[in-house]
Amino acid sequence: MATAALKKRVQEFLNGDKGLYINGNYVPSASGKTFDVFNPATEEFIAKVSEADESDIDKAVQAAREAFDNGEWTQMEAAERSHIIYKLADLMEEHREELAQLEALDNGKPYMQALEDDVDGTIQHFRYYSGWATKITGQTTNALNDYLTYTVHEPVGVVGQIIPWNYPLAMAGWKLGAALAAGCTVVIKPAEETPLSLLYAAKLFKEAGFPDGVVNVVPGTGSVAGNSIVTHKDIDKVAFTGSTETGRLIMKTAADDIKSVTLELGGKSPAVVLEDADLNAALDGMFDGTMYNSGQNCSATTRIYVQRKIYDDVLTALKEKAEKAVVGPGLDESTEYGPLVSEKQLNTVLGYIEKGEEEGARLLTGGSRKGDKGYFVEPTIFADVKDDMTIAREEIFGPVMSVLVFDEIDEVIKRANDSDYGLAASVWTESIKKGHHIAGKLKAGTVWINDVGLEMETMPFGGYKKSGIGREMGGEYGISNYIEVKSVFVNHKID
Ligand code: NAD
Repeated sequence: MATAALKKRVQEFLNGDKGLYINGNYVPSASGKTFDVFNPATEEFIAKVSEADESDIDKAVQAAREAFDNGEWTQMEAAERSHIIYKLADLMEEHREELAQLEALDNGKPYMQALEDDVDGTIQHFRYYSGWATKITGQTTNALNDYLTYTVHEPVGVVGQIIPWNYPLAMAGWKLGAALAAGCTVVIKPAEETPLSLLYAAKLFKEAGFPDGVVNVVPGTGSVAGNSIVTHKDIDKVAFTGSTETGRLIMKTAADDIKSVTLELGGKSPAVVLEDADLNAALDGMFDGTMYNSGQNCSATTRIYVQRKIYDDVLTALKEKAEKAVVGPGLDESTEYGPLVSEKQLNTVLGYIEKGEEEGARLLTGGSRKGDKGYFVEPTIFADVKDDMTIAREEIFGPVMSVLVFDEIDEVIKRANDSDYGLAASVWTESIKKGHHIAGKLKAGTVWINDVGLEMETMPFGGYKKSGIGREMGGEYGISNYIEVKSVFVNHKID
């Protein structure tokens, strides 16, 4: 397997100091504390990164507050803000290979996936949202004679954003694009497992022309840096992507200050495969729907409901796919599926596999760690899974598929909806009527018919039930997270 050499700018970045990015400069943490970042494919040390504590978060928030209250960012014409966001996308394009290498190194994902999905997707996202900076409009209403009544959409202020490790750059891009287009300033915390791509990108913010303090990048732990963001009195809004458990905690903490929150949380999404489906397409969709990003995907379709007539054929084909899949380091060119992000995640996933076997699901293929170096898990498929088994109910966040059999459409709709989560779902059928009927009944923020995994800046993304609150992307849907609405009444009656 050929392993790509690291680019010069990546090597320079890794060799240099990786401080916090506050008020337009990389600075050491106040305590001088750092934490180590590891390559999940080799378990080897990659880099030391400054670790933010409460006082660093306070500095970052002060910088963002100053930039919002008195800085040129909020005085600037929207068209100029738009131009700066677009310029950032251009600069990211110049550095796309570096960003993708860092993502592959730090998170473990395949390089081409990092390049074309994560990095190029983020660039496209910034380009799209740059256009929104000039399209934020209020309304006039005709409710009262002799009054002009109108609404103004104002940026909410200083925003705290907390990012997970599964798509480190892309999740940051989803949050930053809309917040910056709305005119907010930001304190953003990457996950402690994967801070490198966003830290690298931070210098591009300055180069693009963002005034100091508009974007501050503060790596650190969830319990210290993350919690300090959520509790800081000068943060007006918190946007979070990660586990439902942490989301619940953040919502409770934010409630103390009645701080608005947007939550993008976990999922246990179903795929419903009818007997009339185009089976080749459905098989690709079922497999990738679970295994993409080694299953570390909040919208992964991991509960696969297959209609009885095609059940055995589907199992045979899925097993074959799993056994052919190439699992390896993200920087190896032939790799299709990388390692899990950390030892903690490896143990969690292996624990779920054990539970699946204990509870009586049939292990069709996989089921073990692959090798003894790096956090690799074989693509794993359980057949004959029952609705009440742990592996059918809890988010595993690893390459583990549960296949269940069904007979009737009404039955499968009920079973697919019997979940705490409601992030996504896919439906596979050649019948337009059945496809739309099922899509209409599923309680999920995104439904794909004859497709899976498609997420893009023009369409809103978010969850029903315990999968979250609010929608990101989708133009105005995403912008609305970062807007306060003001009603103005003007009396122009002449006596
Ligand atoms: P997590 O929710 O604990 O971490 C996500 C982010 O939140 C990280 O930046 C973390 O530092 C921060 N955080 C953690 N505790 C915090 C707190 N008290 N206050 C503020 N910020 C805090 O997720 P994890 O532990 O890294 O992963 C555990 C599980 O989360 C996974 O197994 C998976 O199920 C889920 N997960 C979901 C997504 C998603 O996109 N929905 C992403 C990553 C992880």
